[in-house]
Amino acid sequence: MAVGLQAAENISVLGNKPRWDVLEHYQQTITRDEFAHLINDVYGTHGFAPDIIEIKDNTARILMNRDAQKFFTLQFAASTEERKLVPRLWRPAKSLPPAGSGKPLSGLKIALDPGHLGGKWAKMEERWFQVGDSQPVQEGDLTLRVARLLALRLRDLGAKVSFVRSTDEPTTGKRPDDFRELARKILIRNGVPQPRANVLDSTDPEKEKTIRWQSEILFYRYSEIRRRAALVNFKLHPDLVLCLHFNAEGWGDPTSPMLTDTSHLHLLVNGSYLAEELEFDDERFEMIRRLLSHTYDEELPLTDKIALAMARETGLPPYQYPTTNSTTKVGTSGYVYARNLLATRLYRCPVVYCEPYVMNSKDVFARIQAGDYEGTRNINGVERKSIFREYADSVAEGLVEYYSRARGSSD
Ligand SMILES: [Zn+2]
Repeated sequence: MAVGLQAAENISVLGNKPRWDVLEHYQQTITRDEFAHLINDVYGTHGFAPDIIEIKDNTARILMNRDAQKFFTLQFAASTEERKLVPRLWRPAKSLPPAGSGKPLSGLKIALDPGHLGGKWAKMEERWFQVGDSQPVQEGDLTLRVARLLALRLRDLGAKVSFVRSTDEPTTGKRPDDFRELARKILIRNGVPQPRANVLDSTDPEKEKTIRWQSEILFYRYSEIRRRAALVNFKLHPDLVLCLHFNAEGWGDPTSPMLTDTSHLHLLVNGSYLAEELEFDDERFEMIRRLLSHTYDEELPLTDKIALAMARETGLPPYQYPTTNSTTKVGTSGYVYARNLLATRLYRCPVVYCEPYVMNSKDVFARIQAGDYEGTRNINGVERKSIFREYADSVAEGLVEYYSRARGSSD
Protein backbone atom coordinates (compact mmCIF):
# COMPACT_ATOMS: atom_id res chain seq x y z
CA MET A 1 0.00 0.00 0.00
CA ALA A 2 1.48 3.33 -1.09
CA VAL A 3 0.72 5.33 2.03
CA GLY A 4 2.25 8.77 2.22
CA LEU A 5 2.42 9.85 -1.39
CA GLN A 6 0.21 12.86 -1.18
CA ALA A 7 0.35 15.51 1.52
CA ALA A 8 -1.65 18.34 -0.04
CA GLU A 9 -3.66 19.06 -3.14
CA ASN A 10 -1.45 18.54 -6.22
CA ILE A 11 1.83 19.02 -4.32
CA SER A 12 3.97 16.04 -3.28
CA VAL A 13 5.13 15.43 0.32
CA LEU A 14 6.85 18.56 1.75
CA GLY A 15 7.03 19.86 -1.83
CA ASN A 16 7.26 23.48 -2.88
CA LYS A 17 4.78 25.37 -5.01
CA PRO A 18 6.15 25.38 -8.55
CA ARG A 19 7.45 28.66 -9.98
CA TRP A 20 6.35 28.28 -13.57
CA ASP A 21 7.51 31.80 -14.46
CA VAL A 22 11.11 30.53 -14.12
CA LEU A 23 10.57 28.48 -17.27
CA GLU A 24 10.29 31.70 -19.32
CA HIS A 25 14.11 31.74 -19.22
CA TYR A 26 14.14 28.45 -21.14
CA GLN A 27 12.15 29.67 -24.15
CA GLN A 28 13.73 28.54 -27.45
CA THR A 29 16.54 26.63 -25.73
CA ILE A 30 15.53 23.22 -27.07
CA THR A 31 14.32 21.89 -30.42
CA ARG A 32 11.09 19.99 -30.86
CA ASP A 33 13.03 16.78 -31.69
CA GLU A 34 15.22 17.04 -28.58
CA PHE A 35 12.20 17.72 -26.37
CA ALA A 36 10.15 14.87 -27.84
CA HIS A 37 13.08 12.43 -27.50
CA LEU A 38 13.61 13.29 -23.83
CA ILE A 39 9.89 13.03 -23.03
CA ASN A 40 9.37 9.77 -24.96
CA ASP A 41 12.60 7.91 -24.14
CA VAL A 42 13.72 9.25 -20.75
CA TYR A 43 11.25 11.19 -18.61
CA GLY A 44 7.75 10.13 -19.66
CA THR A 45 8.36 6.48 -20.50
CA HIS A 46 5.34 5.25 -18.51
CA GLY A 47 2.89 7.53 -20.29
CA PHE A 48 0.71 10.27 -18.77
CA ALA A 49 -2.68 11.93 -19.10
CA PRO A 50 -3.02 13.69 -22.49
CA ASP A 51 -3.38 17.19 -21.01
CA ILE A 52 -0.08 16.91 -19.03
CA ILE A 53 2.20 17.63 -22.01
CA GLU A 54 1.03 18.21 -25.54
CA ILE A 55 3.75 18.52 -28.18
CA LYS A 56 2.70 20.71 -31.12
CA ASP A 57 4.69 21.90 -34.18
CA ASN A 58 6.50 24.86 -32.64
CA THR A 59 5.46 24.70 -29.00
CA ALA A 60 4.68 22.36 -26.15
CA ARG A 61 1.66 22.97 -23.95
CA ILE A 62 2.40 21.95 -20.34
CA LEU A 63 -0.26 21.67 -17.66
CA MET A 64 0.33 24.05 -14.74
CA ASN A 65 -2.90 23.50 -12.83
CA ARG A 66 -5.81 21.35 -13.91
CA ASP A 67 -8.48 22.89 -11.64
CA ALA A 68 -7.65 26.35 -12.93
CA GLN A 69 -7.07 25.03 -16.50
CA LYS A 70 -3.76 26.90 -16.66
CA PHE A 71 -1.03 25.92 -19.13
CA PHE A 72 2.54 26.95 -19.82
CA THR A 73 3.54 27.40 -23.45
CA LEU A 74 7.13 26.44 -24.25
CA GLN A 75 8.48 27.70 -27.57
CA PHE A 76 10.92 25.40 -29.35
CA ALA A 77 14.12 26.57 -31.04
CA ALA A 78 13.78 26.30 -34.81
CA SER A 79 17.06 24.34 -35.07
CA THR A 80 19.99 23.27 -32.86
CA GLU A 81 22.01 26.24 -34.22
CA GLU A 82 19.31 28.67 -33.16
CA ARG A 83 19.00 27.42 -29.59
CA LYS A 84 19.27 30.18 -27.00
CA LEU A 85 21.68 29.74 -24.08
CA VAL A 86 20.40 27.52 -21.25
CA PRO A 87 20.50 29.28 -17.87
CA ARG A 88 22.32 27.06 -15.37
CA LEU A 89 24.91 27.23 -12.62
CA TRP A 90 26.70 23.92 -13.27
CA ARG A 91 29.26 23.55 -16.05
CA PRO A 92 29.29 20.71 -18.57
CA ALA A 93 32.68 19.06 -19.15
CA LYS A 94 33.23 20.72 -22.50
CA SER A 95 32.87 24.23 -21.06
CA LEU A 96 35.51 23.65 -18.37
CA PRO A 97 38.98 25.06 -19.08
CA PRO A 98 41.49 22.43 -20.32
CA ALA A 99 42.78 20.26 -17.49
CA GLY A 100 46.25 20.72 -16.08
CA SER A 101 48.67 17.87 -16.62
CA GLY A 102 48.05 15.02 -14.16
CA LYS A 103 44.95 16.84 -12.86
CA PRO A 104 42.11 15.66 -15.11
CA LEU A 105 39.49 16.96 -12.64
CA SER A 106 41.06 20.38 -12.03
CA GLY A 107 38.49 23.05 -11.26
CA LEU A 108 35.57 20.60 -11.30
CA LYS A 109 33.18 21.14 -8.37
CA ILE A 110 31.94 17.81 -7.05
CA ALA A 111 29.52 17.42 -4.12
CA LEU A 112 29.52 14.04 -2.40
CA ASP A 113 26.19 12.87 -1.00
CA PRO A 114 26.70 9.83 1.26
CA GLY A 115 23.27 8.19 1.36
CA HIS A 116 21.24 7.98 4.59
CA LEU A 117 22.37 8.99 8.10
CA GLY A 118 23.82 5.97 9.88
CA GLY A 119 24.93 6.29 13.49
CA LYS A 120 22.07 6.22 15.99
CA TRP A 121 19.56 6.80 13.16
CA ALA A 122 20.39 3.62 11.22
CA LYS A 123 17.74 1.45 12.90
CA MET A 124 15.03 4.05 12.36
CA GLU A 125 16.04 4.31 8.68
CA GLU A 126 15.76 0.51 8.40
CA ARG A 127 19.34 0.57 7.09
CA TRP A 128 20.70 -1.64 9.89
CA PHE A 129 21.20 -5.36 10.38
CA GLN A 130 23.39 -7.51 12.59
CA VAL A 131 24.54 -11.11 12.22
CA GLY A 132 25.05 -12.71 15.64
CA ASP A 133 27.45 -10.54 17.62
CA SER A 134 29.37 -9.24 14.56
CA GLN A 135 29.65 -5.50 13.82
CA PRO A 136 26.20 -4.16 12.86
CA VAL A 137 25.98 -3.17 9.17
CA GLN A 138 24.70 0.41 8.79
CA GLU A 139 24.46 1.74 5.25
CA GLY A 140 24.77 5.39 6.31
CA ASP A 141 28.14 4.68 7.97
CA LEU A 142 29.45 2.73 4.98
CA THR A 143 28.57 5.48 2.50
CA LEU A 144 30.24 8.14 4.64
CA ARG A 145 33.40 6.04 4.81
CA VAL A 146 33.46 5.72 1.01
CA ALA A 147 32.83 9.47 0.64
CA ARG A 148 35.84 10.33 2.83
CA LEU A 149 38.17 8.06 0.82
CA LEU A 150 36.73 9.32 -2.45
CA ALA A 151 37.21 12.97 -1.44
CA LEU A 152 40.96 12.35 -0.97
CA ARG A 153 41.29 10.80 -4.41
CA LEU A 154 39.22 13.46 -6.17
CA ARG A 155 41.15 16.31 -4.53
CA ASP A 156 44.40 14.66 -5.67
CA LEU A 157 43.02 14.72 -9.19
CA GLY A 158 42.32 18.45 -8.93
CA ALA A 159 38.60 18.51 -8.05
CA LYS A 160 37.01 20.88 -5.54
CA VAL A 161 35.09 18.54 -3.27
CA SER A 162 32.29 19.39 -0.88
CA PHE A 163 30.11 17.17 1.31
CA VAL A 164 26.32 17.28 1.35
CA ARG A 165 26.61 15.33 4.64
CA SER A 166 29.89 14.93 6.51
CA THR A 167 28.78 13.44 9.86
CA ASP A 168 26.19 10.93 11.06
CA GLU A 169 23.89 13.78 12.12
CA PRO A 170 20.92 14.89 10.00
CA THR A 171 21.20 17.91 7.72
CA THR A 172 17.60 18.88 8.47
CA GLY A 173 16.84 20.65 11.74
CA LYS A 174 13.49 18.83 11.97
CA ARG A 175 12.87 15.65 13.95
CA PRO A 176 10.15 12.97 13.72
CA ASP A 177 7.99 14.63 16.39
CA ASP A 178 7.75 17.74 14.21
CA PHE A 179 5.82 15.67 11.67
CA ARG A 180 3.25 13.92 13.85
CA GLU A 181 0.36 16.11 12.75
CA LEU A 182 1.32 15.89 9.06
CA ALA A 183 1.78 12.13 9.37
CA ARG A 184 -1.73 11.81 10.82
CA LYS A 185 -3.21 13.91 7.99
CA ILE A 186 -1.39 11.89 5.32
CA LEU A 187 -2.65 8.62 6.79
CA ILE A 188 -6.24 9.86 6.97
CA ARG A 189 -6.04 11.16 3.40
CA ASN A 190 -4.74 7.75 2.29
CA GLY A 191 -7.60 5.80 3.84
CA VAL A 192 -6.49 5.11 7.43
CA PRO A 193 -9.22 7.04 9.31
CA GLN A 194 -7.92 6.36 12.84
CA PRO A 195 -4.18 5.80 12.65
CA ARG A 196 -2.43 4.11 15.57
CA ALA A 197 0.26 6.15 17.31
CA ASN A 198 3.04 3.59 17.63
CA VAL A 199 4.73 0.67 15.91
CA LEU A 200 4.58 -2.61 17.87
CA ASP A 201 7.99 -3.90 16.72
CA SER A 202 10.13 -4.05 13.55
CA THR A 203 8.07 -6.95 12.16
CA ASP A 204 4.69 -5.21 12.72
CA PRO A 205 2.87 -5.74 9.38
CA GLU A 206 0.77 -2.61 9.94
CA LYS A 207 3.69 -0.34 10.84
CA GLU A 208 3.28 1.82 7.72
CA LYS A 209 -0.16 2.80 8.97
CA THR A 210 1.15 4.27 12.24
CA ILE A 211 1.86 7.92 12.99
CA ARG A 212 5.27 6.94 14.39
CA TRP A 213 6.48 5.23 11.20
CA GLN A 214 5.12 7.95 8.92
CA SER A 215 6.57 10.81 10.97
CA GLU A 216 9.96 9.07 10.96
CA ILE A 217 10.01 8.66 7.20
CA LEU A 218 8.94 12.30 6.79
CA PHE A 219 12.00 13.19 8.86
CA TYR A 220 14.76 10.93 7.55
CA ARG A 221 13.70 10.79 3.92
CA TYR A 222 11.56 13.71 2.81
CA SER A 223 12.75 16.47 5.13
CA GLU A 224 16.37 15.31 5.10
CA ILE A 225 16.68 15.00 1.31
CA ARG A 226 14.84 18.27 0.70
CA ARG A 227 17.27 19.99 3.07
CA ARG A 228 20.21 18.42 1.22
CA ALA A 229 18.74 19.70 -2.04
CA ALA A 230 18.58 23.22 -0.62
CA LEU A 231 22.28 22.92 0.30
CA VAL A 232 23.21 21.69 -3.17
CA ASN A 233 21.09 24.25 -5.03
CA PHE A 234 21.61 27.39 -2.96
CA LYS A 235 24.98 26.95 -1.27
CA LEU A 236 27.30 24.38 -2.85
CA HIS A 237 26.48 24.98 -6.56
CA PRO A 238 28.46 21.92 -7.74
CA ASP A 239 28.97 20.83 -11.35
CA LEU A 240 28.04 17.32 -10.31
CA VAL A 241 26.63 15.39 -7.32
CA LEU A 242 27.66 11.81 -6.58
CA CYS A 243 25.06 9.99 -4.47
CA LEU A 244 26.76 7.05 -2.75
CA HIS A 245 24.75 4.03 -1.63
CA PHE A 246 25.10 0.32 -0.96
CA ASN A 247 22.34 -1.95 -2.22
CA ALA A 248 20.69 -4.85 -0.38
CA GLU A 249 18.26 -7.69 -0.96
CA GLY A 250 15.39 -8.19 1.49
CA TRP A 251 16.97 -9.39 4.74
CA GLY A 252 13.85 -10.06 6.80
CA ASP A 253 14.39 -9.78 10.56
CA PRO A 254 17.31 -7.31 11.00
CA THR A 255 18.50 -9.15 14.13
CA SER A 256 18.61 -12.45 12.24
CA PRO A 257 19.07 -11.36 8.62
CA MET A 258 19.03 -13.60 5.57
CA LEU A 259 22.36 -13.68 3.74
CA THR A 260 22.36 -14.33 -0.01
CA ASP A 261 24.85 -15.48 -2.65
CA THR A 262 23.97 -12.74 -5.14
CA SER A 263 25.52 -9.32 -5.48
CA HIS A 264 25.12 -6.79 -8.28
CA LEU A 265 25.62 -3.23 -9.47
CA HIS A 266 23.50 -0.51 -11.00
CA LEU A 267 23.49 3.26 -11.29
CA LEU A 268 20.57 5.66 -11.60
CA VAL A 269 19.89 8.93 -13.38
CA ASN A 270 16.69 10.93 -13.16
CA GLY A 271 13.80 10.01 -15.43
CA SER A 272 11.10 7.36 -15.86
CA TYR A 273 8.35 9.34 -14.11
CA LEU A 274 5.15 7.48 -13.31
CA ALA A 275 1.85 8.83 -14.64
CA GLU A 276 0.67 9.43 -11.07
CA GLU A 277 3.87 11.31 -10.18
CA LEU A 278 3.30 13.66 -13.10
CA GLU A 279 -0.10 14.52 -11.64
CA PHE A 280 1.70 16.47 -8.88
CA ASP A 281 2.20 20.07 -10.00
CA ASP A 282 5.62 20.32 -8.33
CA GLU A 283 7.01 17.03 -9.68
CA ARG A 284 5.86 17.87 -13.20
CA PHE A 285 7.46 21.30 -12.93
CA GLU A 286 10.72 19.89 -11.55
CA MET A 287 10.85 17.32 -14.33
CA ILE A 288 10.38 19.96 -17.02
CA ARG A 289 12.97 22.28 -15.49
CA ARG A 290 15.44 19.39 -15.29
CA LEU A 291 14.73 18.33 -18.87
CA LEU A 292 15.21 21.91 -20.11
CA SER A 293 18.52 22.23 -18.21
CA HIS A 294 19.96 19.49 -20.46
CA THR A 295 21.40 17.67 -17.45
CA TYR A 296 20.69 14.35 -19.15
CA ASP A 297 23.17 15.12 -21.97
CA GLU A 298 25.92 15.23 -19.35
CA GLU A 299 24.78 12.74 -16.72
CA LEU A 300 24.03 9.81 -19.02
CA PRO A 301 27.47 9.45 -20.72
CA LEU A 302 29.16 10.24 -17.39
CA THR A 303 27.11 7.63 -15.52
CA ASP A 304 27.78 5.05 -18.24
CA LYS A 305 31.53 5.66 -17.87
CA ILE A 306 31.44 5.37 -14.08
CA ALA A 307 29.29 2.24 -14.37
CA LEU A 308 31.82 0.55 -16.66
CA ALA A 309 34.73 1.45 -14.38
CA MET A 310 32.84 0.11 -11.35
CA ALA A 311 31.87 -3.06 -13.20
CA ARG A 312 35.49 -3.66 -14.22
CA GLU A 313 36.87 -3.07 -10.74
CA THR A 314 34.16 -4.88 -8.71
CA GLY A 315 33.38 -7.69 -11.16
CA LEU A 316 29.69 -7.28 -10.32
CA PRO A 317 26.99 -8.20 -12.85
CA PRO A 318 24.29 -5.66 -13.78
CA TYR A 319 21.22 -5.63 -11.57
CA GLN A 320 18.00 -6.44 -13.40
CA TYR A 321 14.88 -4.88 -11.89
CA PRO A 322 12.23 -7.60 -11.57
CA THR A 323 9.68 -5.34 -13.28
CA THR A 324 9.81 -2.21 -15.43
CA ASN A 325 7.11 -0.53 -13.32
CA SER A 326 9.26 2.35 -12.11
CA THR A 327 12.54 2.22 -14.05
CA THR A 328 13.72 2.44 -17.65
CA LYS A 329 17.06 1.07 -18.81
CA VAL A 330 19.08 3.81 -20.52
CA GLY A 331 22.56 4.26 -21.99
CA THR A 332 24.88 1.64 -23.44
CA SER A 333 26.68 0.08 -20.46
CA GLY A 334 23.78 -2.15 -19.36
CA TYR A 335 24.13 -0.91 -15.77
CA VAL A 336 22.21 2.37 -15.89
CA TYR A 337 18.53 2.99 -15.23
CA ALA A 338 16.38 6.11 -15.20
CA ARG A 339 14.24 6.46 -12.09
CA ASN A 340 12.48 9.34 -10.38
CA LEU A 341 14.14 9.56 -6.97
CA LEU A 342 13.86 12.62 -4.74
CA ALA A 343 17.59 13.38 -4.86
CA THR A 344 18.04 12.82 -8.59
CA ARG A 345 15.03 15.05 -9.27
CA LEU A 346 15.78 17.91 -6.86
CA TYR A 347 19.55 18.48 -7.18
CA ARG A 348 19.81 20.99 -10.01
CA CYS A 349 22.87 19.60 -11.77
CA PRO A 350 23.97 16.23 -13.17
CA VAL A 351 23.49 13.54 -10.50
CA VAL A 352 25.10 10.10 -10.57
CA TYR A 353 23.41 7.75 -8.10
CA CYS A 354 25.52 4.64 -7.36
CA GLU A 355 24.02 1.38 -6.08
CA PRO A 356 26.84 -1.19 -5.95
CA TYR A 357 27.10 -4.28 -3.70
CA VAL A 358 24.40 -6.25 -1.92
CA MET A 359 25.27 -5.60 1.76
CA ASN A 360 23.68 -8.86 2.89
CA SER A 361 25.42 -11.04 0.32
CA LYS A 362 27.91 -13.39 1.98
CA ASP A 363 30.96 -11.91 0.22
CA VAL A 364 30.04 -8.28 0.74
CA PHE A 365 29.14 -8.92 4.36
CA ALA A 366 32.57 -10.53 4.94
CA ARG A 367 34.29 -7.59 3.23
CA ILE A 368 32.38 -5.06 5.35
CA GLN A 369 33.38 -6.97 8.49
CA ALA A 370 37.04 -6.86 7.35
CA GLY A 371 36.86 -3.05 7.45
CA ASP A 372 39.21 -0.70 5.61
CA TYR A 373 42.85 -1.65 4.94
CA GLU A 374 45.67 -0.97 2.49
CA GLY A 375 46.64 -3.43 -0.24
CA THR A 376 44.73 -6.69 -0.53
CA ARG A 377 43.55 -9.41 1.85
CA ASN A 378 42.21 -12.88 1.37
CA ILE A 379 38.41 -12.80 1.79
CA ASN A 380 36.52 -16.06 1.27
CA GLY A 381 39.45 -17.36 -0.80
CA VAL A 382 39.97 -14.30 -3.05
CA GLU A 383 42.57 -11.51 -2.74
CA ARG A 384 40.59 -8.28 -2.52
CA LYS A 385 41.05 -4.59 -1.88
CA SER A 386 39.07 -3.13 1.00
CA ILE A 387 35.51 -2.74 -0.25
CA PHE A 388 35.60 0.96 0.63
CA ARG A 389 38.73 1.59 -1.46
CA GLU A 390 37.46 -0.51 -4.35
CA TYR A 391 34.27 1.59 -4.40
CA ALA A 392 36.09 4.93 -4.16
CA ASP A 393 38.83 3.99 -6.66
CA SER A 394 36.38 2.78 -9.28
CA VAL A 395 34.21 5.91 -9.11
CA ALA A 396 37.32 8.10 -9.37
CA GLU A 397 38.54 6.10 -12.37
CA GLY A 398 35.24 6.53 -14.20
CA LEU A 399 35.34 10.30 -13.58
CA VAL A 400 38.90 10.54 -14.89
CA GLU A 401 38.01 8.61 -18.03
CA TYR A 402 34.96 10.76 -18.71
CA TYR A 403 36.47 14.17 -18.01
CA SER A 404 39.82 13.48 -19.69
CA ARG A 405 38.01 12.78 -22.92
CA ALA A 406 35.10 15.23 -22.65
CA ARG A 407 36.97 18.39 -21.64
CA GLY A 408 39.93 17.94 -23.96
CA SER A 409 42.92 17.64 -21.64
CA SER A 410 46.20 19.38 -22.39
CA ASP A 411 48.18 16.13 -22.52
ZN1 LIG B 1 20.77 3.58 0.07
